[in-house]
Amino acid sequence: MAGTPRIYLDSAATTPPAPAVVEAVREALTDSWGNASSAHAAGSRARRIVEEARVKVAALLGGRPDEIVFTSGATEANNTVFVGLAGPRGRPGRIVISAIEHPCVIESAAALERSGWTVVRAGVDETGIVDPDAVGAALGKRTALVSVMLANNEVGTIEPVAEIAKIAKAAGAFVHTDATQAVGRIPVDVGALGVDYLSLSAHKFNGPKGVGALWVRRGAAIAPLFRGGSQEGGRRAGTLNVPGIAGLGVAAELAKKNLAETADLVRGLRDRLEAGIRSGVQGLRLNGHPVLRLPSHLNMSFDLIEGEALMMRLDLAGIAVSTGSACSSGSREPSYVLTAMGCDAVRAAGAVRFSVGSTTTEAEIDRVIGVLPGIVADLRKAPPAFLKG
Ligand SMILES: *Cc1c(COP(=O)(O)O)cnc(C)c1O
Repeated sequence: MAGTPRIYLDSAATTPPAPAVVEAVREALTDSWGNASSAHAAGSRARRIVEEARVKVAALLGGRPDEIVFTSGATEANNTVFVGLAGPRGRPGRIVISAIEHPCVIESAAALERSGWTVVRAGVDETGIVDPDAVGAALGKRTALVSVMLANNEVGTIEPVAEIAKIAKAAGAFVHTDATQAVGRIPVDVGALGVDYLSLSAHKFNGPKGVGALWVRRGAAIAPLFRGGSQEGGRRAGTLNVPGIAGLGVAAELAKKNLAETADLVRGLRDRLEAGIRSGVQGLRLNGHPVLRLPSHLNMSFDLIEGEALMMRLDLAGIAVSTGSACSSGSREPSYVLTAMGCDAVRAAGAVRFSVGSTTTEAEIDRVIGVLPGIVADLRKAPPAFLKG
């Protein structure tokens, strides 16, 4: 729609880079383009940028700089943890994950399962919470790893990771959390969580795409996914992505500085959106935990509507939302996250995820509230047969 500014309510999929991030990336590409491993001045300049970023990312997590391993994103960080298990620790053991992990964790665990590992997938309740006692019950002798995400990408439910870690550590397991959705949105402190590994991705908190980090508790085992040079203390070979890391560092610094303020702002807008939708539309169900939820996320099922159709109509109106996760939308399979939460196929099909970002405005929320009821009413005039039950 020419002339109509587009509204972006899909910050769970990715976020716009902050201007200071863009500037840091630009600077690294133009002035500090040396190889961070080189001994000369150009190298030290790039290395200084990388080490500054490492300090900032560590500070955001309450960890130590030498515990940060830069990666190409959370997918790589998660794969590193799982692939690493198959290496130095010898024969196949047991892994416990939740049923609602991101596909990169689910598929990494499945790959180990195919090579003889036992994978237990702990279920969730109807709000998407993983029960720590269920994880405890799933722990057999010699469980190598427990991996439960800090917050779910589709519904935003925040998991009791600290409690789970306590139980898992007592049983001698290592604990990983995919904190990709949580970092930059809620306080994340590795000490309070009590985990051994934590994954994050810059582009989910106003950093660049293609860069992230794995935090590895000092002393915890880690095997490199990529072998080659001795970058990152031998934990991740390959010439460092200095521009990306520079951008990640600035994003981490901004996230730490603005966390509470941004969370309040985003939560206020999200709640305004939810209240506005509820006042204009009947036949709605909230997916996810009503309270223990990221401030950004609002996942709702619309009776008699296919989420996919609603998403497309909103897109035509200049409003970007999503159904399920970006990685699985486009496939017509019901969301495995919603299915694990006990949603039937009809409710899962009617789900739409709105995710508010730090640059969202009240005027944008009000425009969405204004156009949504008309689109919903229009779509409900001719609901697809399978939704009528
Ligand atoms: C986005 C996301 C990932 C993947 O991160 P990339 O850096 O894009 O590979 C992993 N886990 C969760 C929970 C995510 O939201």
